[in-house]
Amino acid sequence: MRETLRAAWPYLRRYRGKLSIGFGALLLKDAAAASLPLVIRRGIDRLTAGAYLESVIWMGGLLVLISAIKGLFQYWMRVILIGASRDIEYDLRNDLFHRLISLSSTFYARYRTGDIMARATNDLNQVRMMLGPGIMYWMETSITFVLAVVVMMSVSWRLTLICLLPAPLVSVAVIYFGRIIHERFERIQAMFSDISSRVQENLSGVRVIRAYVQEEAELRQFEALNREYVGENIRLVKSTGLFMPLLQSLIGFTFLILLWAGGHQLLEHRISLGSFVMFNTYMGMLIWPMIAFGWVVNLMQRGSASMKRIRELMAETPDIAAPARPVSLTQPRGAIEFRGVGMRYGDACVLSGIDLHVPAGSTIAIVGYTGSGKTTLVQLIPRLIDATSGQVLVDGVDVRQYDPAELRRIIGFVPQETFLFSATLGENIAFGVPGATSEAIAEAAELAGLSADLAVFPAGFDTVVGERGLTLSGGQKQRTAIARAILRNPRILILDDALASVDTVTEERILEGLSRLMRQRTTILISHRVSTVRNAGRIYVLDQGRIVEQGTHAELLLKGGYYAELYQKQLLEDELTVAE
Ligand code: ADP
Repeated sequence: MRETLRAAWPYLRRYRGKLSIGFGALLLKDAAAASLPLVIRRGIDRLTAGAYLESVIWMGGLLVLISAIKGLFQYWMRVILIGASRDIEYDLRNDLFHRLISLSSTFYARYRTGDIMARATNDLNQVRMMLGPGIMYWMETSITFVLAVVVMMSVSWRLTLICLLPAPLVSVAVIYFGRIIHERFERIQAMFSDISSRVQENLSGVRVIRAYVQEEAELRQFEALNREYVGENIRLVKSTGLFMPLLQSLIGFTFLILLWAGGHQLLEHRISLGSFVMFNTYMGMLIWPMIAFGWVVNLMQRGSASMKRIRELMAETPDIAAPARPVSLTQPRGAIEFRGVGMRYGDACVLSGIDLHVPAGSTIAIVGYTGSGKTTLVQLIPRLIDATSGQVLVDGVDVRQYDPAELRRIIGFVPQETFLFSATLGENIAFGVPGATSEAIAEAAELAGLSADLAVFPAGFDTVVGERGLTLSGGQKQRTAIARAILRNPRILILDDALASVDTVTEERILEGLSRLMRQRTTILISHRVSTVRNAGRIYVLDQGRIVEQGTHAELLLKGGYYAELYQKQLLEDELTVAE
């Protein structure tokens, strides 16, 4: 708990002004609440002493006034303290997102997306509940408790002790049942999400289910899940059903004791009727603190556990960060060099002994089987990953000496699997280039070979793509991603198998457009298709993480190795396609 508060301290400190005012309101509210039974006692004692009704009416007015004051401070207490907890939640969420976005792919390989999402939503909410309602009710109920008990003790300490005997039982019952109910509730939530994803999967995969005649099997599995879900819900109802009457009996028991012990004292004239009524009112006031105490204990425990999980994410450091004094890249030329580069993922050696020189402004290509390490190789250039041995240099400087953000700004990287945001096509192309003019966007789209498709899209560049918008074909997606990279006006352009889903005619057109655009820039093309790479200045063949062949298209054909074989195979395929 202490550790949790220490972690939350910087956030609490930021709102110390607001929190102090909130706690001031809380104190005044509690003081007003605690004074109410005193006024009631006075009123009743005056009545029993034979006072005029008029003076009692004055007491009634005073009660209304104090209640109004109490209500006002209670309102401010809630608005300010719960508001501050929302502010802290806002800061925490921003910090968490900031951290998540700075972490590299190795982090995302270690954590499941669902787990990260749960921490960023459920856990964050639990922390807010702890810092907001948790601390607020803890302070409120402790003060109410102390004030009420002090006044009650001053009247009769014996009666106070007797009346408070069942109080710990109420708190323990709340802690115990609160925990059970919470656990069951969480399990129900998890089950419900299981059921929903099952249904969603079934609906999307309905054709496969029919084709494999799996309707019965799926139905049976669904029924089992559904039965479990209902069973767990019934278990939850049983616990809540038991909890409420138990709590009410305990509270009723408290009043029974008060009636019995207080009644005795009243009859023996040891306390006045006013004091007796006052005791009753205070006991009524103390019920909430007894319940709240148990509730707050649970809130604090859940909040601490959640804070721990959030702190685990916050403690992750990006393994690719800018050096203390980064070399500036003011006039990039775009020369790339690999010097004895090796890359391992755990025990697996993905690249070894890579020596490669790409002069500024030239175009090279990399071919090789799937899994030969092509993607890994190019990911080293914008520092999406770091090499385990050797050096990657851009303009003669190790990439680790640059600020990654600055380095990435001069690189247009089109990954193998493109990602389009659910935004308009124009916004997707202009991603990363704020303030791009519509002419520039249109030009990039033209160069990427998207113009013909645009005429078909209902709203041109304003067509929403992705979720709930137009779904693009694989080729259209790739060309949108190429347009995105072109718009950045990069010094270095990397196309990682980015033309795989494009037909050869379109591919030729795009490559021609690109060759004009990239005349003064460095281009790296990755492909398993000879047609894509044949015009590259130099072609490298990668096999099991090593460069096994290199040369121009003509040179490699003469060598009669992997490349020549690939060429023959694809030539044959093309002939077959034409013959069809
Ligand atoms: P290519 O682009 O030529 O298909 P990749 O560079 O994608 O090859 O992959 C090379 C090898 O590295 C593959 O065997 C792949 O399984 C492995 N690999 C790639 N990324 C990771 C990773 N993040 N963790 C572990 N292994 C990886």
